[in-house]
Amino acid sequence: MSGEEKRRRPAPSATPWDGAGDGELSPAERIVRDCHRDMYRYRHAGAGLVGEADFFNGYDRDACPRCGSPAIEGNGRDANGVRRWRCLSCGRAFNPATGTVFDGRKLPVADWTEFLLEVFSYGSLAGAARSGRRSATTPPYWLAKLLAVLEGVQEGAALAGRVEIDEMMYPLPLADQPRMPDGSKVPGGFSKGKHCIGIGCDGSGASVFADEGLGKTSGARTLAAFGGHVARGSTLVHDMENGHNRLVRELGLRSERHNSKLIKRLPDPENPLAAVNRLCYLLRLFLDSHTGFDRTRLGGYLDLFWVMMNPPRDKMEKAAFVLDRAMRNPKTLRYRDFYARSPSSDDEESSS
Ligand SMILES: [Zn+2]
Repeated sequence: MSGEEKRRRPAPSATPWDGAGDGELSPAERIVRDCHRDMYRYRHAGAGLVGEADFFNGYDRDACPRCGSPAIEGNGRDANGVRRWRCLSCGRAFNPATGTVFDGRKLPVADWTEFLLEVFSYGSLAGAARSGRRSATTPPYWLAKLLAVLEGVQEGAALAGRVEIDEMMYPLPLADQPRMPDGSKVPGGFSKGKHCIGIGCDGSGASVFADEGLGKTSGARTLAAFGGHVARGSTLVHDMENGHNRLVRELGLRSERHNSKLIKRLPDPENPLAAVNRLCYLLRLFLDSHTGFDRTRLGGYLDLFWVMMNPPRDKMEKAAFVLDRAMRNPKTLRYRDFYARSPSSDDEESSS
Protein backbone atom coordinates (compact mmCIF):
# COMPACT_ATOMS: atom_id res chain seq x y z
CA MET A 1 0.00 0.00 0.00
CA SER A 2 1.41 3.40 -0.93
CA GLY A 3 1.74 6.25 1.52
CA GLU A 4 -0.95 8.14 -0.33
CA GLU A 5 -3.43 5.32 0.13
CA LYS A 6 -2.63 5.06 3.83
CA ARG A 7 -3.42 8.70 4.33
CA ARG A 8 -6.60 8.47 2.31
CA ARG A 9 -7.88 5.40 4.12
CA PRO A 10 -6.91 5.53 7.80
CA ALA A 11 -9.17 2.75 9.16
CA PRO A 12 -8.71 -0.76 7.77
CA SER A 13 -12.48 -1.18 7.71
CA ALA A 14 -13.13 2.03 5.71
CA THR A 15 -14.71 1.76 2.26
CA PRO A 16 -15.56 4.27 -0.50
CA TRP A 17 -19.21 4.13 0.55
CA ASP A 18 -19.10 4.73 4.31
CA GLY A 19 -21.14 7.95 4.15
CA ALA A 20 -23.88 6.39 2.04
CA GLY A 21 -27.05 4.66 3.16
CA ASP A 22 -27.87 1.19 1.87
CA GLY A 23 -30.56 2.61 -0.41
CA GLU A 24 -28.03 4.74 -2.30
CA LEU A 25 -25.79 1.78 -3.13
CA SER A 26 -26.07 -0.93 -5.77
CA PRO A 27 -26.31 -4.56 -4.63
CA ALA A 28 -22.73 -5.08 -5.82
CA GLU A 29 -21.43 -2.08 -3.87
CA ARG A 30 -23.22 -3.27 -0.72
CA ILE A 31 -21.73 -6.76 -0.84
CA VAL A 32 -18.19 -5.54 -1.50
CA ARG A 33 -18.53 -3.12 1.42
CA ASP A 34 -19.96 -5.77 3.75
CA CYS A 35 -17.45 -8.35 2.64
CA HIS A 36 -14.58 -5.96 3.23
CA ARG A 37 -15.82 -5.05 6.71
CA ASP A 38 -16.37 -8.66 7.68
CA MET A 39 -13.29 -10.08 6.03
CA TYR A 40 -11.25 -10.83 9.10
CA ARG A 41 -14.17 -12.31 10.99
CA TYR A 42 -15.32 -14.15 7.89
CA ARG A 43 -11.95 -15.67 7.20
CA HIS A 44 -11.41 -16.93 10.72
CA ALA A 45 -14.92 -17.98 11.65
CA GLY A 46 -15.62 -19.46 8.22
CA ALA A 47 -19.09 -17.96 8.30
CA GLY A 48 -20.34 -18.23 4.74
CA LEU A 49 -22.88 -16.30 2.74
CA VAL A 50 -22.05 -12.76 3.84
CA GLY A 51 -25.08 -10.91 2.51
CA GLU A 52 -25.36 -13.25 -0.46
CA ALA A 53 -29.15 -13.48 -0.54
CA ASP A 54 -29.47 -9.68 -0.59
CA PHE A 55 -26.88 -9.47 -3.34
CA PHE A 56 -28.61 -12.01 -5.58
CA ASN A 57 -32.08 -10.65 -4.83
CA GLY A 58 -30.88 -7.21 -5.91
CA TYR A 59 -30.85 -8.45 -9.51
CA ASP A 60 -34.27 -8.82 -11.07
CA ARG A 61 -34.93 -11.25 -13.88
CA ASP A 62 -37.58 -10.51 -16.52
CA ALA A 63 -36.90 -13.49 -18.80
CA CYS A 64 -35.90 -17.15 -18.53
CA PRO A 65 -32.06 -17.39 -18.64
CA ARG A 66 -32.31 -20.81 -20.31
CA CYS A 67 -34.80 -20.27 -23.13
CA GLY A 68 -35.21 -16.49 -23.14
CA SER A 69 -38.98 -16.54 -22.67
CA PRO A 70 -40.43 -13.54 -20.83
CA ALA A 71 -43.29 -15.74 -19.55
CA ILE A 72 -42.06 -16.39 -16.00
CA GLU A 73 -43.69 -16.48 -12.58
CA GLY A 74 -42.31 -16.03 -9.06
CA ASN A 75 -41.76 -19.28 -7.20
CA GLY A 76 -40.96 -18.28 -3.63
CA ARG A 77 -37.48 -18.41 -2.11
CA ASP A 78 -34.94 -21.13 -1.52
CA ALA A 79 -33.53 -22.15 1.88
CA ASN A 80 -31.02 -19.26 1.74
CA GLY A 81 -33.74 -16.69 1.08
CA VAL A 82 -32.84 -16.26 -2.60
CA ARG A 83 -35.75 -15.61 -4.97
CA ARG A 84 -36.84 -18.27 -7.44
CA TRP A 85 -38.82 -18.17 -10.64
CA ARG A 86 -40.37 -20.77 -12.90
CA CYS A 87 -40.44 -20.45 -16.67
CA LEU A 88 -43.92 -20.96 -18.12
CA SER A 89 -42.44 -21.81 -21.53
CA CYS A 90 -39.76 -24.42 -20.78
CA GLY A 91 -40.98 -25.30 -17.29
CA ARG A 92 -37.57 -24.99 -15.66
CA ALA A 93 -36.86 -23.18 -12.40
CA PHE A 94 -34.18 -20.54 -11.99
CA ASN A 95 -32.87 -17.93 -9.58
CA PRO A 96 -30.93 -14.67 -10.04
CA ALA A 97 -27.61 -16.56 -10.19
CA THR A 98 -28.71 -18.93 -12.94
CA GLY A 99 -26.56 -18.49 -16.01
CA THR A 100 -23.97 -16.38 -14.17
CA VAL A 101 -20.55 -17.41 -12.84
CA PHE A 102 -22.27 -17.92 -9.48
CA ASP A 103 -24.64 -20.56 -10.85
CA GLY A 104 -25.01 -23.56 -8.56
CA ARG A 105 -23.25 -21.69 -5.73
CA LYS A 106 -19.91 -23.21 -6.64
CA LEU A 107 -18.41 -19.79 -6.21
CA PRO A 108 -19.12 -18.05 -2.89
CA VAL A 109 -19.54 -14.35 -3.66
CA ALA A 110 -17.58 -13.27 -0.60
CA ASP A 111 -14.61 -15.50 -1.46
CA TRP A 112 -14.60 -14.26 -5.01
CA THR A 113 -14.85 -10.67 -3.79
CA GLU A 114 -11.76 -11.21 -1.66
CA PHE A 115 -10.00 -12.72 -4.65
CA LEU A 116 -10.94 -9.69 -6.77
CA LEU A 117 -9.61 -7.29 -4.15
CA GLU A 118 -6.31 -9.18 -4.15
CA VAL A 119 -6.14 -9.19 -7.95
CA PHE A 120 -6.78 -5.44 -8.02
CA SER A 121 -4.04 -4.98 -5.42
CA TYR A 122 -1.63 -6.28 -8.08
CA GLY A 123 -1.28 -9.49 -6.05
CA SER A 124 0.22 -12.32 -8.03
CA LEU A 125 -1.72 -15.56 -8.26
CA ALA A 126 0.83 -17.32 -6.10
CA GLY A 127 0.47 -14.59 -3.49
CA ALA A 128 -3.30 -14.89 -3.52
CA ALA A 129 -3.02 -18.61 -2.94
CA ARG A 130 -0.57 -18.17 -0.07
CA SER A 131 -2.53 -15.54 1.80
CA GLY A 132 -5.86 -17.35 2.01
CA ARG A 133 -7.07 -20.77 2.97
CA ARG A 134 -7.65 -21.61 -0.67
CA SER A 135 -5.72 -24.29 -2.46
CA ALA A 136 -2.99 -23.18 -4.85
CA THR A 137 -5.03 -24.56 -7.74
CA THR A 138 -8.04 -22.35 -7.11
CA PRO A 139 -6.89 -18.96 -8.40
CA PRO A 140 -6.44 -20.03 -12.06
CA TYR A 141 -10.01 -21.29 -12.05
CA TRP A 142 -11.29 -18.11 -10.41
CA LEU A 143 -9.19 -16.07 -12.77
CA ALA A 144 -10.75 -17.92 -15.74
CA LYS A 145 -14.17 -16.88 -14.44
CA LEU A 146 -13.00 -13.32 -14.02
CA LEU A 147 -11.67 -13.21 -17.59
CA ALA A 148 -15.00 -14.64 -18.84
CA VAL A 149 -16.91 -11.92 -17.02
CA LEU A 150 -14.61 -9.23 -18.43
CA GLU A 151 -14.86 -10.43 -22.03
CA GLY A 152 -15.81 -7.41 -24.16
CA VAL A 153 -15.20 -4.96 -21.31
CA GLN A 154 -13.15 -2.65 -23.56
CA GLU A 155 -16.00 -2.28 -26.05
CA GLY A 156 -16.98 1.34 -25.98
CA ALA A 157 -13.66 2.51 -24.52
CA ALA A 158 -13.02 5.81 -26.27
CA LEU A 159 -9.86 7.86 -26.72
CA ALA A 160 -10.06 11.46 -27.89
CA GLY A 161 -8.02 14.63 -28.21
CA ARG A 162 -4.31 13.95 -27.94
CA VAL A 163 -4.01 10.17 -28.35
CA GLU A 164 -0.69 8.33 -27.89
CA ILE A 165 -0.31 4.86 -29.36
CA ASP A 166 2.54 2.37 -29.45
CA GLU A 167 3.14 -1.36 -29.75
CA MET A 168 4.73 -3.67 -27.23
CA MET A 169 6.22 -6.99 -28.34
CA TYR A 170 5.71 -9.72 -25.75
CA PRO A 171 7.51 -13.05 -26.27
CA LEU A 172 5.91 -16.46 -26.49
CA PRO A 173 7.14 -18.96 -23.90
CA LEU A 174 10.45 -20.52 -24.98
CA ALA A 175 8.81 -23.86 -25.82
CA ASP A 176 6.44 -22.15 -28.28
CA GLN A 177 9.06 -20.08 -30.11
CA PRO A 178 9.05 -20.77 -33.85
CA ARG A 179 11.83 -23.20 -34.88
CA MET A 180 13.26 -24.60 -38.10
CA PRO A 181 12.83 -28.37 -38.65
CA ASP A 182 16.34 -28.92 -37.25
CA GLY A 183 15.47 -27.00 -34.06
CA SER A 184 17.42 -23.85 -34.90
CA LYS A 185 15.89 -20.41 -34.73
CA VAL A 186 13.83 -19.19 -37.69
CA PRO A 187 15.85 -16.61 -39.68
CA GLY A 188 14.28 -13.21 -39.18
CA GLY A 189 11.84 -14.86 -36.77
CA PHE A 190 12.58 -12.31 -34.09
CA SER A 191 9.15 -10.70 -34.15
CA LYS A 192 7.30 -13.88 -35.18
CA GLY A 193 7.89 -15.35 -31.74
CA LYS A 194 6.26 -12.35 -30.10
CA HIS A 195 2.76 -11.07 -29.58
CA CYS A 196 2.16 -7.54 -30.74
CA ILE A 197 0.11 -5.63 -28.19
CA GLY A 198 -1.34 -2.30 -29.28
CA ILE A 199 -1.53 0.27 -26.47
CA GLY A 200 -3.30 3.60 -26.65
CA CYS A 201 -4.15 6.35 -24.16
CA ASP A 202 -5.37 9.93 -24.08
CA GLY A 203 -5.06 12.95 -21.83
CA SER A 204 -8.12 12.03 -19.75
CA GLY A 205 -6.42 8.88 -18.44
CA ALA A 206 -8.45 6.49 -20.63
CA SER A 207 -6.55 3.65 -22.27
CA VAL A 208 -7.03 0.58 -24.49
CA PHE A 209 -5.02 -2.62 -24.86
CA ALA A 210 -5.38 -4.89 -27.91
CA ASP A 211 -3.80 -8.21 -28.87
CA GLU A 212 -2.77 -7.71 -32.51
CA GLY A 213 -1.47 -11.28 -32.93
CA LEU A 214 2.02 -12.64 -33.58
CA GLY A 215 4.56 -10.54 -35.42
CA LYS A 216 4.72 -6.83 -36.05
CA THR A 217 1.76 -4.56 -36.65
CA SER A 218 0.34 -3.58 -40.04
CA GLY A 219 -2.15 -1.09 -41.41
CA ALA A 220 -5.01 -3.57 -41.01
CA ARG A 221 -3.96 -4.64 -37.53
CA THR A 222 -3.51 -1.12 -36.23
CA LEU A 223 -6.92 -0.21 -37.64
CA ALA A 224 -8.52 -3.28 -36.02
CA ALA A 225 -6.87 -2.49 -32.67
CA PHE A 226 -7.68 1.22 -32.48
CA GLY A 227 -10.25 2.03 -35.18
CA GLY A 228 -13.21 1.51 -32.84
CA HIS A 229 -11.63 3.45 -29.97
CA VAL A 230 -10.13 6.66 -31.36
CA ALA A 231 -12.48 9.58 -32.02
CA ARG A 232 -12.39 11.09 -35.50
CA GLY A 233 -10.36 14.27 -35.72
CA SER A 234 -8.12 13.36 -32.77
CA THR A 235 -4.36 13.95 -32.89
CA LEU A 236 -2.40 10.72 -33.07
CA VAL A 237 0.97 10.94 -31.30
CA HIS A 238 3.09 8.01 -32.40
CA ASP A 239 6.41 6.72 -33.74
CA MET A 240 7.52 6.24 -37.35
CA GLU A 241 5.74 2.87 -37.73
CA ASN A 242 4.19 2.85 -41.22
CA GLY A 243 1.44 0.51 -40.02
CA HIS A 244 -0.17 3.53 -38.36
CA ASN A 245 -0.74 5.43 -41.61
CA ARG A 246 -3.99 3.72 -42.49
CA LEU A 247 -5.54 4.51 -39.10
CA VAL A 248 -4.58 8.17 -39.52
CA ARG A 249 -6.06 8.24 -43.02
CA GLU A 250 -9.31 6.39 -42.35
CA LEU A 251 -10.18 8.27 -39.17
CA GLY A 252 -9.05 11.65 -40.48
CA LEU A 253 -6.57 12.06 -37.63
CA ARG A 254 -3.92 14.72 -37.26
CA SER A 255 -0.60 12.94 -37.09
CA GLU A 256 2.31 13.87 -34.82
CA ARG A 257 5.18 11.50 -35.50
CA HIS A 258 8.34 11.10 -33.47
CA ASN A 259 11.54 9.18 -33.99
CA SER A 260 11.49 6.75 -31.07
CA LYS A 261 15.29 6.39 -31.11
CA LEU A 262 15.66 10.12 -30.50
CA ILE A 263 12.89 10.65 -27.96
CA LYS A 264 13.73 7.69 -25.74
CA ARG A 265 16.68 9.63 -24.35
CA LEU A 266 14.41 12.45 -23.20
CA PRO A 267 13.30 12.74 -19.58
CA ASP A 268 9.61 11.88 -19.08
CA PRO A 269 8.24 15.46 -18.89
CA GLU A 270 9.72 16.16 -22.34
CA ASN A 271 8.93 12.80 -23.93
CA PRO A 272 5.79 13.11 -26.10
CA LEU A 273 5.12 9.37 -25.69
CA ALA A 274 5.73 9.25 -21.92
CA ALA A 275 2.16 8.23 -21.04
CA VAL A 276 2.00 5.27 -23.41
CA ASN A 277 5.56 4.29 -22.46
CA ARG A 278 4.52 4.12 -18.83
CA LEU A 279 1.58 1.85 -19.69
CA CYS A 280 3.98 -0.38 -21.68
CA TYR A 281 6.21 -0.65 -18.65
CA LEU A 282 3.36 -1.46 -16.26
CA LEU A 283 1.79 -3.96 -18.66
CA ARG A 284 5.08 -5.82 -18.98
CA LEU A 285 5.38 -6.01 -15.20
CA PHE A 286 1.81 -7.28 -14.98
CA LEU A 287 2.25 -9.96 -17.65
CA ASP A 288 5.61 -11.00 -16.19
CA SER A 289 3.91 -11.50 -12.81
CA HIS A 290 1.73 -14.16 -14.46
CA THR A 291 4.66 -16.07 -15.97
CA GLY A 292 3.80 -19.00 -18.17
CA PHE A 293 0.18 -17.94 -18.62
CA ASP A 294 -1.78 -19.49 -21.45
CA ARG A 295 -1.16 -17.14 -24.38
CA THR A 296 -4.56 -17.97 -25.89
CA ARG A 297 -5.94 -15.92 -22.99
CA LEU A 298 -3.75 -12.89 -23.70
CA GLY A 299 -6.83 -10.89 -24.71
CA GLY A 300 -8.41 -11.73 -21.36
CA TYR A 301 -5.33 -10.57 -19.45
CA LEU A 302 -5.42 -7.31 -21.42
CA ASP A 303 -9.08 -6.85 -20.42
CA LEU A 304 -8.09 -7.38 -16.79
CA PHE A 305 -5.23 -4.90 -17.11
CA TRP A 306 -7.66 -2.43 -18.70
CA VAL A 307 -9.89 -2.65 -15.60
CA MET A 308 -6.82 -2.05 -13.41
CA MET A 309 -5.71 1.01 -15.38
CA ASN A 310 -9.09 2.69 -15.98
CA PRO A 311 -11.70 4.26 -13.67
CA PRO A 312 -13.03 3.61 -11.13
CA ARG A 313 -9.69 3.88 -9.34
CA ASP A 314 -10.46 2.30 -5.98
CA LYS A 315 -9.99 -1.48 -5.89
CA MET A 316 -13.29 -1.94 -4.03
CA GLU A 317 -15.14 0.01 -6.70
CA LYS A 318 -13.46 -2.17 -9.32
CA ALA A 319 -14.60 -5.32 -7.45
CA ALA A 320 -18.19 -3.98 -7.32
CA PHE A 321 -18.00 -3.23 -11.05
CA VAL A 322 -16.97 -6.85 -11.77
CA LEU A 323 -19.66 -8.38 -9.52
CA ASP A 324 -22.30 -6.21 -11.16
CA ARG A 325 -21.09 -7.17 -14.63
CA ALA A 326 -21.08 -10.86 -13.63
CA MET A 327 -24.77 -10.66 -12.68
CA ARG A 328 -25.74 -8.72 -15.80
CA ASN A 329 -23.71 -10.73 -18.34
CA PRO A 330 -24.29 -14.46 -17.85
CA LYS A 331 -21.17 -16.37 -18.95
CA THR A 332 -21.68 -19.84 -17.50
CA LEU A 333 -20.99 -21.77 -20.66
CA ARG A 334 -17.71 -20.06 -21.25
CA TYR A 335 -16.21 -21.08 -17.96
CA ARG A 336 -17.50 -24.61 -18.39
CA ASP A 337 -15.23 -24.63 -21.43
CA PHE A 338 -12.41 -24.05 -18.99
CA TYR A 339 -13.26 -27.28 -17.13
CA ALA A 340 -13.24 -29.19 -20.38
CA ARG A 341 -9.84 -27.85 -21.34
CA SER A 342 -7.98 -28.23 -18.08
CA PRO A 343 -9.79 -30.49 -15.58
CA SER A 344 -6.63 -31.02 -13.50
CA SER A 345 -6.31 -27.36 -12.62
CA ASP A 346 -9.51 -27.45 -10.62
CA ASP A 347 -9.33 -29.93 -7.76
CA GLU A 348 -11.67 -28.09 -5.47
CA GLU A 349 -14.62 -27.74 -7.79
CA SER A 350 -14.51 -30.87 -9.90
CA SER A 351 -16.29 -32.99 -7.30
CA SER A 352 -19.37 -30.77 -7.21
ZN1 LIG B 1 -37.45 -21.11 -20.15
